[in-house]
Amino acid sequence: MSRLNVTGLALIAAAIGASAQAQTQAPAAQPAPAERPLYATTKVADNVYIFRYDNHQSMFVVTPAGVIATDPISERRPAAKAYIEEIRKITKAPIKYVIYSHSHFDHIAGGKPFKDLGAVFIAQRNAKRRIAELKPADVVMPDEVVDAKRVIRLGGTTLELDYIGRNHSDNMLVMRLPKEKIIFTVDWVPLESLQYRGMADTYVPDVEQGLKKVIAMDWDKLIPGHPGPGNRQIGTKDDAKNDLAYLQDLSAAVKKEVDANKSLPEAIKDIKLPKYEKWGGYGPFLPMNIERYYDYWNRGI
Ligand SMILES: [Zn+2]
Repeated sequence: MSRLNVTGLALIAAAIGASAQAQTQAPAAQPAPAERPLYATTKVADNVYIFRYDNHQSMFVVTPAGVIATDPISERRPAAKAYIEEIRKITKAPIKYVIYSHSHFDHIAGGKPFKDLGAVFIAQRNAKRRIAELKPADVVMPDEVVDAKRVIRLGGTTLELDYIGRNHSDNMLVMRLPKEKIIFTVDWVPLESLQYRGMADTYVPDVEQGLKKVIAMDWDKLIPGHPGPGNRQIGTKDDAKNDLAYLQDLSAAVKKEVDANKSLPEAIKDIKLPKYEKWGGYGPFLPMNIERYYDYWNRGI
């Protein structure tokens, strides 16, 4: 795996400063390795790259006819400018599309520099509705929407956009490159990490059904929205299977507590899942993940 990296003491210093702020938003709750530059581009396949900025990452696809970019990851920071500069180091072809993974602002804010270059913005239909409701100041409104499926063909590359139902939001796309056997989908298939905090906007148990569906799809490499522990940027099907196993183990453990008439504080005190104790977020997020499943089993919500 080659890296088109951006290094320099100033960037490293900025990364250390930025990571302290970013930890409040980063699902994995992993401190960024001190030696990691603020941003970098990683080649995944001949035409497929990851742009990472601090602890968020996004996929882009380069073809002779143009570039397909995804999440701008620029909430309250100038990541899109760096993203475009990184693309321009690889190709001068026009940036044709920006595709949103889902509606959460930490992934999709700050796309204006792409819009200024003429990119067409695409999102799942429910994502556009959510953006229209909340009107976040720095989120470019999607130009086009996807319902269940759309296939983009550009310069010899095929990219499928699949909506496989509710999981971490009601508008998550799974972007799949069938030839390269790569998928990009964000936040709900983390690498060796618990689900973020209290699983806000996550549908239970739909997220487990979604994991079964994504595991059944044809792919080898997963690009998630955040690196895992040790700055691991690319996952495999085993990561998705482990995420499903975690949720099933968590669900079963919480159900047992509810069946025994235990209170939420008792459930939080009782439940230990040592199989996952090395995962990102185990300490801070396990009690909140327990709470989400406690409400599901105890109240059906
Ligand atoms: Zn999200």
